[in-house]
Amino acid sequence: MKRILITGGAGFIGSFLSERLVNDGNDVICLDNFFTGSKDNIRHLIGNNRFELVRHDITIKYYAEVDQIYNLACPASPLHYQYNPIKTMKTSVLGIINMLGLAKRCKATILQASTSEVYGDPKLHPQQETYWGNVNPIGIRSCYDEGKRCSETLMMDYNRQNNVNIRIARIFNTYGPRMAVNDGRVISNFILQALQNKPITVYGDGTQTRSFCFVDDMIDALIKLMNNSENYIYPVNLGNPNEIKIIDIAKLIIELTNSNSEIIHKELPQDDPAQREPDISTAIKLLDWKPSVALKDGLIRTIEYFTKII
Ligand code: NAD
Ligand code: UDP
Repeated sequence: MKRILITGGAGFIGSFLSERLVNDGNDVICLDNFFTGSKDNIRHLIGNNRFELVRHDITIKYYAEVDQIYNLACPASPLHYQYNPIKTMKTSVLGIINMLGLAKRCKATILQASTSEVYGDPKLHPQQETYWGNVNPIGIRSCYDEGKRCSETLMMDYNRQNNVNIRIARIFNTYGPRMAVNDGRVISNFILQALQNKPITVYGDGTQTRSFCFVDDMIDALIKLMNNSENYIYPVNLGNPNEIKIIDIAKLIIELTNSNSEIIHKELPQDDPAQREPDISTAIKLLDWKPSVALKDGLIRTIEYFTKII
C-alpha cells in the first residue's frame, strides 16, 4: 500500500486514476479545486476509507505525507484553459513548484501530466520525445503549451538540483466517459451534437489530424510510468498512434450514433496544430505498454456514457 496524492483527481483522467489506485489497495488523497472536475466523477469513492477528497488549489502550498504524487491538476480543454489564461499559467508553474517542493520534502516520486502540446504545431511527424517542438510563445494556446513546457523544465531542474525522483508523461489526446459535458473538446462535442441531432461543428476543413487514446489505456500507462523499475526521468509520449482526420472522426461518430446530424464548418481556431501523432517506441520498450482499445470500441463506450447523462 502506498500513500498517493492525485491533484486534479476529480477530473476526467484523475477520477479513473483515483478509482484504479484505490481499488489496487492504496491510500489516495484526491485534491481538486473543481474548476473543471466534478464530485460526480468520484462520488462512488466517497466513504471508502482508502479515499480522501480535499478541496484545494495547487497554486497554494499543500502539506501531506505521501509516497507518490500524480500532478494532473490543470484544465485540459482549449475552451477551459483559455477562459482564464493567467490562472492556467499559475496552475502549471506555481502548481508544479508547490508539488515539487512537497515531493522533495517527502522524498516522493512525482509524475507530471505534460502534453503533446509541448510540440506545438509540429514540423516533425510523428512526434518523438527528442523533438523540441514548434510553439508560439504569445498566442492563445501559449498559456497551456508554455505552462506545460515550463513545468517540464522545473521537473528536470528539481531532479538535477535536488535529486527529486520525477516522471514526465507527455499525454496525447485522451477521451472516454466522464469528459465534462461543457468541455468543448472534439470527441465530447461531436458525440453530444450527434446524440441531439444538432450540426457537427468541424473547425476548418477538418483535414487536421489527432490520435485518440481511450482513458483505460492511459491509466495503465501512467501507473506503469510512475512505477517503472528503471527510474526513467525523461519525457515519455503516451497515446494511441492511430492518427485520424477530424472530418473522419465526425463521420465515424455520426455512423456510430445513427445520427441525422449534418456536418458544418466553423473557423479554425488560431494556432490549431495541423497534425499530431505520438511515436510511442519509448513507452513500448520502457513500460511494455501499448494501447489496446480500438477507436471504434472506445467511442461506443463513450457514446453509452453520454447517452445516459444527457
Ligand atoms: P480535466 O479538466 O477533466 O481535469 C483537470 C482537473 O484539475 C479538474 O478536476 C480540475 O478541477 C482540476 N484543476 C484545475 N486547476 C486546478 C488547480 N489550480 N488546483 C487544483 N485542481 C485544479 O482534464 P483531463 O483531461 O482529466 O486532464 C488531466 C491532466 O492531463 C491535465 O493536466 C492535462 O493537461 C493533462 N492532459 C490531458 C490530455 C487529454 O487529452 N485529456 C492530453 C494531454 C494532457
Ligand atoms: N475541433 C472541431 N470541432 C469541435 C471541437 C474541436 O473541429 O467542436 C477540432 C479542433 O479544432 C482541433 C481538434 O478538433 O483541430 C481537437 O480539438 P480539441 O479541442 O479536442 O483538442 P486539441 O488537440 O486541439 O487540444
